[in-house]
Amino acid sequence: MGGTIAGRGADSTSLNDYTAGALAASELLQKLPQLQRFALIQVEQLANVDSADLQFQHWIDLVKRIRRGFAESSELAGVVITHGTNTMEESAWLLELLIDDPRPVVLVGAMRPATALSADGPLNLFQAVQVATSTQAIGHGVLVVMDGQIHGARAVTKVATQGVGAFESPGSGPLGWVDDLGVHLPLKSGPRSVPFATLELPVDWPQVAILYGCVDPPLAMISALLQAGVKGLVWTGTGAGQLSLVERDALMQWPGQLPLMLRASRCGSGPVHPCDRNDQLGLLPAGSLSPQKARILLLLALIAGLDRTELSALLATMLMTGKNEG
Ligand code: ASP
Repeated sequence: MGGTIAGRGADSTSLNDYTAGALAASELLQKLPQLQRFALIQVEQLANVDSADLQFQHWIDLVKRIRRGFAESSELAGVVITHGTNTMEESAWLLELLIDDPRPVVLVGAMRPATALSADGPLNLFQAVQVATSTQAIGHGVLVVMDGQIHGARAVTKVATQGVGAFESPGSGPLGWVDDLGVHLPLKSGPRSVPFATLELPVDWPQVAILYGCVDPPLAMISALLQAGVKGLVWTGTGAGQLSLVERDALMQWPGQLPLMLRASRCGSGPVHPCDRNDQLGLLPAGSLSPQKARILLLLALIAGLDRTELSALLATMLMTGKNEG
């Protein structure tokens, strides 16, 4: 898909000034003859972009290709997706909700461009293939492999702008790790529910926006979004997903129909639980999903035609949100 793992800088010390998505995936693999010991690799270039420039059409292509690959080939052990790190967690979560096959789907990227001194991409890619071809990884859902750590799609997030150890899974920690001794996933995979396994993705997607909570927020954005007719809104609330009185007022005073709405938190870890006064306003809790992942759930729920009650039921089963708010 592109990203820094396929990035090219002017010289080997250019760590910030480089072009992402400049090298072909086949070029990345040419530098890794060691991979031949694990797998026969078939490369496909679906895109070659900075992941900030991904569009829904890229996601549609990716989902279709993976579904087709698994459906057509019993010999396919798994899929590795080279991807920019900035939105990798979004693509991982999207695939987690849509791909229903126990075989591993592994996303991998790099924090340093391919041309840099001590580029992290080659080892990350090598380890991603190790994981994707490991029977241990079967049934664990969509994974992200970065810096020797194996993360699950739901919890993983990029937490740093610099440095090779830029990914964490707040609250739960990584699922495991990978090194020269093999793939280590200490916990057995459990049953996995893939709520949108059969959902066909349309070309036109609904508009879903994210709002960010702060002290004395400007209200112009809220009315602008409501007037624009967005179909979904994710509120990045303070603390455990709290909205200010003025934000709640803006919603209460809106004369039209409110969009489908989720409340997430700007804290970066910990759950957002249901609470009556927010539920009454139509604000459903996003559990421990980050705002950007809550948005993806909302997008798919809207595409699937779910109403608020159905979305609430889905959240309760998927995210195990409990009644309580701090
Ligand atoms: N700008 C890059 C991206 O495509 C950053 C990276 O890959 O690390 O997300």
